[in-house]
Amino acid sequence: LLAILKLGLGLNTIETEFIAVPSGSSARSSLQFITSQDHVAGLPGDFVMADYLSSAFKDAGIESVETFELDVLLNYPSSPPTLKVSNPDGQVTFAATLSKDVLPEDSTSDTPWRNTTFHGYAPSGSVSAPAVFANYGRPSDFNDLEAANISVEGKIVLVRYGQCFRGLKVMNAQNRGAVGVLVYSDPQDDGFEYGKCYPEGPWRSASSVQRGSVQFNSICAGDPMRADKRYEEMGESLTSLCGVKDYTSLIPSIPSIPISYGDAQPILSQLGGVAAEALGDDWVGALPITYTTGPSTSIVSMSTDNEFKVTSIPNVIGKIPGSLPASDDHPVLLGNHRDAWVFGAADPNSGTASLIEVAKGLGSLVQSGWQPKHTIYLLSWSGEEYGLLGSTGWAELNFDAISSASAYINVDTVVSGDELTVSATPALTSLWEGVMADLDGHVLFKNGPSGNVLDANVNAPINADDAIGTLGSGSDYTVFLDHFGIASLDFEFNSPAGTYGVYHSIYDSFDWIDNYGGIDGEKGSSFELMASAAKMWGVLALRLADSDVLPFDHVKQAEALVKYSAAVDGNGLDLSELNSNIDAYMKAAQGVAEEMNSPGDLKDLNFRLSMTERSFLNADGLPGRSWMKHVLQAPGFYLGYAAMAFPGVQQAVDDGDLDLAQQQVAVVAECVDKAATFLKG
Ligand code: GLU
Ligand code: ZN
Ligand code: ZN
Repeated sequence: LLAILKLGLGLNTIETEFIAVPSGSSARSSLQFITSQDHVAGLPGDFVMADYLSSAFKDAGIESVETFELDVLLNYPSSPPTLKVSNPDGQVTFAATLSKDVLPEDSTSDTPWRNTTFHGYAPSGSVSAPAVFANYGRPSDFNDLEAANISVEGKIVLVRYGQCFRGLKVMNAQNRGAVGVLVYSDPQDDGFEYGKCYPEGPWRSASSVQRGSVQFNSICAGDPMRADKRYEEMGESLTSLCGVKDYTSLIPSIPSIPISYGDAQPILSQLGGVAAEALGDDWVGALPITYTTGPSTSIVSMSTDNEFKVTSIPNVIGKIPGSLPASDDHPVLLGNHRDAWVFGAADPNSGTASLIEVAKGLGSLVQSGWQPKHTIYLLSWSGEEYGLLGSTGWAELNFDAISSASAYINVDTVVSGDELTVSATPALTSLWEGVMADLDGHVLFKNGPSGNVLDANVNAPINADDAIGTLGSGSDYTVFLDHFGIASLDFEFNSPAGTYGVYHSIYDSFDWIDNYGGIDGEKGSSFELMASAAKMWGVLALRLADSDVLPFDHVKQAEALVKYSAAVDGNGLDLSELNSNIDAYMKAAQGVAEEMNSPGDLKDLNFRLSMTERSFLNADGLPGRSWMKHVLQAPGFYLGYAAMAFPGVQQAVDDGDLDLAQQQVAVVAECVDKAATFLKG
């Protein structure tokens, strides 16, 4: 009997056994240990936690566990940054403290890290200049400034967090001649605008700072140097992989500092210049000041002291070998990063606690004599925060092990709130829906952005069409999907804000997640969500690793392509060939859906189902970013996190380059044609 693509047909025996294992109390105790000390990539705490994961996997019954160390370029602050404002006569009018409050309610907040905020890959530097406010630092914001005749050339640019990846804010400022960048958290984006601030509530308080990488992440992920010597042994280099001459094209050359709104407000309030409101409605934040653009007559001075060095980071690789011969094996990859900016209770270790629960569930099946058909990998990454370093390095250096992988399922911050969000390769959306339907009554989640919190053990399946997002970047699925064309899925429980109030700060702590991270802010409930996430993650993995027919739905994918094509229509592009190829892919998908009901050669069918995704890779990559090879979606070039569909086409349209757009339409059309032919068999 063949288990076909299951859509709410019920859990099988193995799945039922699996979901009995994950528990909130177990997730709680893992997380308590992992958050007991800082574990920034490459520092001693990172190795302590790698050992902890390695033991947790082994204790769970996973027999093959290895630590894969990778040499990468990192930076660490040698001394805290400085920031002050002087009036035109040279008198200091404001000196920022740049330190975070120690809170009695937050037992780890007395960390030395509270005095050393920095940006990953920000260079050392010392600059003094008038300041200009550039809102979120998007190209459109700089265009608004330009339209108002305000130049950022030679200036220090003050921008707020939100809307796009922070590294791209710095990239945009640098490209326009700015000499330094200050990035602050406006309370409108993750502070008092949403509710009470930490420790009275979950939101960002006046002294809280969001750290983070300023790598130019939409161009290429991974170590910006590809410093590990195995690259050279493989005959690969940064140039061959990422299409850039050296690492300086992937990271900023100007200094930047992340600051709190407590430190930003005194600077913002005296910028002078034009009323920010005049530049657009969304130029005004929530601080009780009149937002203006500058340039200031005062002089802002900032300095950073960051040491760059090539250092080793530990990834923990657990493996449950499948029973099928290697030639038929389509490994399933489950990944989560472990490194954190400080304690990482939500980001990423809520996901790490879930990963350990998945390992316990799968390990107990293995110990009772079960073996999956396809190999399952359990992957605990380091170096994600600096730019997806561990996942990218492992995948690039171990491609042979994963070249036939069916899917990569990522969980990063799995719990920072109670609303379930999922993004996936469209071909995996039916798998997700089926799993969610079958877990009805076994997991907790909130039904979409406008739903209500549902009672314990009650839920309803979510509707894939409008509820499942497209993958951009900002987490470890990027190398698998965008570079290698492996179908991917990522999910999390977050808050309606799409971010949370202690993100990348010292307050992303056990106390925060215990008190505020869960269902409707109910103390202790976040651990139950971690257990729910583990059940979802594990059943997704089991359906990919243990089904006779791999659960891919290419009809869903063809439907997505129809939508993507409609979205770029109306720009004067000729889409006829593309649309007819999408039609052919739809027909192939319908044919293969029939075939899945009464499969002939399983090996051949599974090969086509899982490997069709590779057809959507274009060897030359996207224009200006050859490492990003997937033509169906990519992080928006100026977005970094959010996805763009048909990115080669859409970006060219946005840039007004219709020749390039038409040429990119042809590239997509060719990939879709390859996919249709491949899928048909
Ligand atoms: N998740 C990290 C962040 O958002 C890194 C993302 C990336 O480099 O793409 O800061
Ligand atoms: Zn993360
Ligand atoms: Zn992060």
